[in-house]
Amino acid sequence: MVPFRPSLNRLLKKSICFVVRPALLVRVPRAVIAAIVIASVLRCAPLEANGLIFNYRPVFKPYYDAAGAVKIAVREFERNGASRALIVDADSFQTGEIDASTIAFNREVEKEVWRKTPFASALYRYTAGQDGLIHNDGIIRAEGAAPGVFLTVDLCPSKRNFDRNLFTSTIGLPLKDKPIAIAVSGLWIERHRDEFNWIAGEARSNRLSVTWVNHSYSHPYRKGIPDEKNFLLSKGVDFDKEALGLEVLLLENGLLPSPFFRFPGLVSDRRALERLRALSLIPVGADAWLAKGRMPGPGSIILVHGNGNEKRGVKKLINFYKEKKGDFKEGRLTLKPLQDAFAR
Ligand SMILES: [Zn+2]
Repeated sequence: MVPFRPSLNRLLKKSICFVVRPALLVRVPRAVIAAIVIASVLRCAPLEANGLIFNYRPVFKPYYDAAGAVKIAVREFERNGASRALIVDADSFQTGEIDASTIAFNREVEKEVWRKTPFASALYRYTAGQDGLIHNDGIIRAEGAAPGVFLTVDLCPSKRNFDRNLFTSTIGLPLKDKPIAIAVSGLWIERHRDEFNWIAGEARSNRLSVTWVNHSYSHPYRKGIPDEKNFLLSKGVDFDKEALGLEVLLLENGLLPSPFFRFPGLVSDRRALERLRALSLIPVGADAWLAKGRMPGPGSIILVHGNGNEKRGVKKLINFYKEKKGDFKEGRLTLKPLQDAFAR
């Protein structure tokens, strides 16, 4: 058992939760950090009933579950004095948090077995990369025939209120399930606690079926800088901290991260894709970014921003819902969970 001894990173992470950004904290004396942490913990307390997470680390450990299905432990960590694991079902792409001591690693899953699973083949396929700057890498539409479309909503950091009508219109669709993939950034969560809690509440009460997609913690962006040196390709960005920090924030709020990642600005390169593969995260692009005038066809992955920065896209989505109301009602069109975009 690894003792509960918060590292400086741990302290930094907790203190940025509500107070300031990590880049600023690096130069702050430890005593000040300690004071901020105490204040933050007091303020954070009700949200952390799920237990703080320590020693969060990426692993890749395929195993057979009790039913003989291939699962992969992709993260290990400590919470409430116990060793925990974040696991992925290699067939369904569903994630779960379980007691790490219940995993039987004694029966080895041969590489030729796990490598052929839908999850591992998608992971390798979509992180293969190419030289130079890459835009919109990853899955952009369903791999097989999909009688529906996939809604992805980005919540990049924003000072504006979120687009509640985007969510309420989706909830109002004449469908049994309302799947929505939300690509969320840590800074958006920090600045929009009430809105974040509202979405989480809609998910808990099954009015929305949310897949939480990793959109990085701080979503680096500087206006006027070429894409090659912007977003996660900016100088000094710690890719792993950006990806893992967001997951910890979700888990500490009682939510499960999915194995999906959306690059800020849809911008990546070979190195970023290599990091993504090492973290077992599959990139998700889009072939129907509504605000850019791309309307969805069968199997499309729709992209719209719900952070108040893209009113045009939200309006187009709501108009799309209105135009297709009959199709939704009579089963000719549906929203599908992102996991179903992958061929099995
Ligand atoms: Zn973004």
